[in-house]
Amino acid sequence: MLIHEVLVVGGGLAGLMAALAASEKAEVAVLTKLYPTRSHSGAAQGGFNSALGADDSIEAHIYDTVKGSDYLGDQDAIEVLCSDGPEVIFELERMGVPWTRNADGSIAQRALGGAGFPRACFAADFSGHVVLHTLYEQVLKRGIKIYPEWHLVELLVEGGQVAGVLAYDLSRASLEVIRAKAVILATGGYGRAFAKTTNAHANTGDGMAVAYRAGAVLSDMEFVQFHPTTLYGTNVLISEAARGEGGYLRNINGERFMAGYAPSKMELAPRDVVSRAIFREIKEGRGFAGQYVHLDLTHLGETMIKERLPQVRDLSIRYAGVDPAKAPVPVEPAQHYSMGGVRTDVWGMTSLPGLLAAGEVANVSVHGANRLGGNSLLETVVFGRRAGHKAAQLAKNEPWPALSQTTVNRSLDSWSSMLAGERKSVRNDSTFLIRQELTGTMTSLVGVFRVGSELEEAVNKLTELKERYRKLGPPEEIHPFNYALVDHLETGYLLDLSEVIARGALRRTESRGAHYRLDYPSRDDQRWLCHTFACRGKDGPEFTDGPVKITRYQPQERGY
Ligand SMILES: Cc1cc2nc3c(=O)[nH]c(=O)nc-3n(C[C@H](O)[C@H](O)[C@H](O)COP(=O)(O)OP(=O)(O)OC[C@H]3O[C@@H](n4cnc5c(N)ncnc54)[C@H](O)[C@@H]3O)c2cc1C
Repeated sequence: MLIHEVLVVGGGLAGLMAALAASEKAEVAVLTKLYPTRSHSGAAQGGFNSALGADDSIEAHIYDTVKGSDYLGDQDAIEVLCSDGPEVIFELERMGVPWTRNADGSIAQRALGGAGFPRACFAADFSGHVVLHTLYEQVLKRGIKIYPEWHLVELLVEGGQVAGVLAYDLSRASLEVIRAKAVILATGGYGRAFAKTTNAHANTGDGMAVAYRAGAVLSDMEFVQFHPTTLYGTNVLISEAARGEGGYLRNINGERFMAGYAPSKMELAPRDVVSRAIFREIKEGRGFAGQYVHLDLTHLGETMIKERLPQVRDLSIRYAGVDPAKAPVPVEPAQHYSMGGVRTDVWGMTSLPGLLAAGEVANVSVHGANRLGGNSLLETVVFGRRAGHKAAQLAKNEPWPALSQTTVNRSLDSWSSMLAGERKSVRNDSTFLIRQELTGTMTSLVGVFRVGSELEEAVNKLTELKERYRKLGPPEEIHPFNYALVDHLETGYLLDLSEVIARGALRRTESRGAHYRLDYPSRDDQRWLCHTFACRGKDGPEFTDGPVKITRYQPQERGY
């Protein structure tokens, strides 16, 4: 058995920031299924929002975020996000982040969607990559223990209190118990529930599903963000930075069609608005080959593209065979971000004592029904830091939680029964088939436009898939680096979460932010100005409404 005062699960931006903050006062270790620098955070291109500019203000950042959230964000949490922003950006600078700069040496900022000012701090279009590497250097410098390629499998809960985790070491094919006074989940999103997604293969919502199975509350899972501009076919992300730097969206007639949807913000309207606009253009016959629209950067010029958008250029050439300086890039919307997650307060505390969460796995909620570009990276560092401080405080003030052999044995038994499931040779079914049908169902029936009958169809399909999965074991025997086993575990997590997403979407009979119901096209504040809380029941999720914290801004109609 291993013991740490604070155990952080996840080595992305939220996890590393939490570990650094916790290490100021407590002993801490990081458990991560990927090597930290391979976390999805490293793929983020656009930047970190923070009101630094002379004309900008924290107040304006708060307002834009509340409006962007379609009034579902909790305003007390949004105030924390925006107020802590500048301090955290400067803290990262002191750690060594090479922000892109203006001629006078100040930190440069670019416009992203839904923002009143250029507000995103960036490092060319490698923003997530450089900050992730800087934090990782700091983690090494402080000698924080890392367990790379270790998988969180289950939370060990005794008397309602989290006392540690059951983890699987991929390289040795062994199970380990790790005790901790506080566990911080920083395991990222579930993008891989969808066939079309910008997310890394590892983004399978593990932490959310593990917490849900252990009794934690998930919230607002029906709100899934679809990014407007991903490369047609591969869905590799083309950052909003491309539009922030002045890119246009054009239909087959060459028109900048956003004029008809968001006349003042145009291409820089929030993502929910732009994604719906693209789908409508395609649906109404103004797309290319009935499939995609064009992102036109040609007018920006080669020098500017090479300097500010080198990754966008490289990705377009590599994956679409198009040099954006010379020709428009074919793009379509795809799943991008998980607005919902494990419900937390502003210190990262979940409904389970001893369990905290920060970053994309968590729902504080600062994004409400729709996240603005640049606010997620900021959320990882602001709330990662807070969760780290809180966990260290718990570790110093609280006694060790009890952990009996009975609790450990219960987890080991459920692992053994998972392994004992039938293999493909016995059943004419496989994890791969289930995963394929799952992601196809989510993309075609729980996408940008939703309708009751299709959501019902999705729920029925998911019930069938869950039943098939329950009988199935991992495809291969246990051995080191058994990725088939990993795939099997991840498919189970995605099934649980997809059910919560689809059932939540069916339940919410209104349109708000990224959740758009063709059969209920208006926002309904009377009934639905509330969070959706989901707990695991005997036969699936059980839902209740939760209050939205409104401090400064009363809901208004949202136009751009
Ligand atoms: C292509 C792309 C570009 C983006 N660009 C921007 C942007 O410009 N601005 C912005 O604000 N946001 C952006 N986002 C969103 C933002 O990058 C993410 O929300 C954020 O980086 C998530 O960070 P995280 O630390 O919560 O999780 P991640 O970076 O996803 O890290 C998750 C960590 O958890 C670990 N983990 C997962 N499951 C397990 C398990 N079972 N056991 C152990 N460890 C586990 C993984 O190993 C990993 O280290 C972008 C997202 C994508 C996909």
